[in-house]
Amino acid sequence: MKALVLDTPRNEWDNTTGMNLTDVPEPELDESLRPADSNKCIIKPLYTGFCGSDKSLWFRHAFKDMLLDSRDRDEQPYRICGHELLGEIVEAGSYSTSNYGYKPGDIVSTESHIFCGVCHQCKIGDAHVCSDHLIIGISTDGCFAEQVKLPTKELWRTDLDKIRPEVAAIQEPLGNAVHACSRVDLRGKTVAVFGCGTIGLFTILVARAMGATTIIGVDPSKTNLKIAEELGVDSTLQVSTNPTNNSAPAPDLDIADRIRQQCFGEGVDVAFEMSGSNQALNTAIASTRAGGDIILFGLSSGDYTLTNFQDIILYGKSMHSVVGRKVFQTWYITSNLLMSSGHSLQDKIYDVILNRGQGTVVPFKAFDKTQFEKTITSHPKIVLKYD
Ligand SMILES: [Zn+2]
Ligand SMILES: [Zn+2]
Repeated sequence: MKALVLDTPRNEWDNTTGMNLTDVPEPELDESLRPADSNKCIIKPLYTGFCGSDKSLWFRHAFKDMLLDSRDRDEQPYRICGHELLGEIVEAGSYSTSNYGYKPGDIVSTESHIFCGVCHQCKIGDAHVCSDHLIIGISTDGCFAEQVKLPTKELWRTDLDKIRPEVAAIQEPLGNAVHACSRVDLRGKTVAVFGCGTIGLFTILVARAMGATTIIGVDPSKTNLKIAEELGVDSTLQVSTNPTNNSAPAPDLDIADRIRQQCFGEGVDVAFEMSGSNQALNTAIASTRAGGDIILFGLSSGDYTLTNFQDIILYGKSMHSVVGRKVFQTWYITSNLLMSSGHSLQDKIYDVILNRGQGTVVPFKAFDKTQFEKTITSHPKIVLKYD
């Protein structure tokens, strides 16, 4: 079968980019050979989402050791990428049928972090921080392929009569925003979103649906802020400095001041740091009112500096970090939000973030490396379409 893989040798990681479409063996269920296959399904992807983390792999910015070490462990020279899936079950293992009721033809998405189910966190209901997890498409083979074999316990049934397929394929990243917006009560609250990339844009939509009143989008990119406006933010603020320069972590006091002016002179109730910039984090803290909350999702490696640390304590500001999605509470809320007609959430995702499919839906089989690189760098989100 065809698959989009990272088959670059370890020693060439740093001076290459991209993924390759290549022929690999089809996955198989064979319970006599591997009893654990009874708990798995073979799925034929219909649509898959290309994630920010896939972009990091494409440009070799992250996940080097995780991907290469797991490839060595699996004794294969390639890793099939991709973890944002909408697919159709073509074969279900015996336990998958007897205990989960799955059968060929069922439509599913998947949680991308394969939790072990037996570690301390998994046992106490915190499987999203499982201490022994695999990430689909990075540390185990993923869904940019004509077929993918996945553990049945990760699958999430999806109703295509209620959610359009291009949007159903990106429930997983939307779930990041739902998880972030579920950390504190947003009803009637004022909110600022620092970083209006894909998940920041999703956060704007979800925060609104969950009852936030005033939403302010903050980003250095005019293009991102324009999309934020189309999604219905109350105002936007363009950051003038380059926020990715983490050697300059001092807060942008002008931005913080303008946010305070919009919120009773005090600051927002909740700030979402979705950019991974040290400066944005400090601006987010400075823009939050006393007693407010800062939600941390943006990520980059290395040390961060917190300016005026004592003010966080003295003004009673709380910081919450968000990783992945709660399995499956977050998925349940994500489905409900998408299936609700009240917020037009899926229309806004399809019409604005996916640009009505124009330039954002790429046929898997027509993959062309040069063209694909242009596509992933010019849209906030793209999906691959399979036949
Ligand atoms: Zn993702
Ligand atoms: Zn676990």
